[in-house]
Amino acid sequence: MSDWKHRHIIDLATFSLKDYESVLELAHRFEEIPSTGKRKLPALQGRLVTTLFFEPSTRTRSSFELAAKNLSADVQSFSPSSSSLNKGETPLDTALTYVAMGSDVLIVRHRSTTVPEQLAKALDLTGKKTAVLNGGDGLHSHPSQGLLDLYTLAQHFQPEKPTPNALKGRNITIVGDILHSRVARSNLWALTASGADVTLCGPPSLLPEEFESFVKAPPPGQKNDPIKKRGKIKVLRNLSEGLRDADAVMALRLQRERMSQNLITDINQYHQEFGITHERLKVCKKNVVVLHPGPVNRGIEISSNLLDDNSISLVEKQVRNGISIRMALLYLITAN
Ligand code: ASP
Repeated sequence: MSDWKHRHIIDLATFSLKDYESVLELAHRFEEIPSTGKRKLPALQGRLVTTLFFEPSTRTRSSFELAAKNLSADVQSFSPSSSSLNKGETPLDTALTYVAMGSDVLIVRHRSTTVPEQLAKALDLTGKKTAVLNGGDGLHSHPSQGLLDLYTLAQHFQPEKPTPNALKGRNITIVGDILHSRVARSNLWALTASGADVTLCGPPSLLPEEFESFVKAPPPGQKNDPIKKRGKIKVLRNLSEGLRDADAVMALRLQRERMSQNLITDINQYHQEFGITHERLKVCKKNVVVLHPGPVNRGIEISSNLLDDNSISLVEKQVRNGISIRMALLYLITAN
């Protein structure tokens, strides 16, 4: 893994195929560790990992903390409601306070796009060695989720060797509130890099047509795309068309907390048009699987029965894989 170049992990736009391969390979190795009876690895002994979540989280924060503990790191977490944010301290100054306490890694989630990136730049400018891992910034990016989704799919298609190549030529459909979803954006980078074709499906208010060219320009701040040939993206409005021949379907939550106006007026109608159910999956490939990053609104973006049907739903696997993927990320950025 000595060719790992990312000091911070802010988004997946700059990831090369080798980067994806390194993360998945390491996650696969880490996943086998609990079965050996040695729960903890000493890799991050003496390191301090801080979770700085300015926005709510269940899965991401807990699995990063568990991942850090599995690698023997010391873990410190921060609670915005009882912090000095209430006295007017900025998120950046709050983060720098934890750097001053000796944090080696800051995992940052914030509702505003660019907070993790600004922090990473500020640290680089002052020569501080602390690494920043984006735990989700506004609607921009959620790299660890994109990677765990990629891993979960690779594992499904090729259990013995879950590499990005397992997704080549596969049809993946993402349904729902794409506009407000950082998960969709990170998945678009990861899935197309692996050679999967992605169909996006949702109403115009939640899925602007421009998403078809999402990966066409060079990634922000770079002259060239590190991926030579990406899979294609298409936008479809009709769910039956969008699901046709899909190998996997990802349902997304309506992100009402990020909507400046009420973009969906009738939830029942939304479920009728875009809710994923057993019935609607009949047009997909035979062994289709369903993913959802959580939290789930049962009966809105996905039916409760389908969510609980572990022969199709990979949601539990996504949660479990979140731990090994985050172990891999912590390992790679602290090894530098
Ligand atoms: N947990 C994911 C996120 O933080 C998805 C969601 O909230 O709907 O972006």
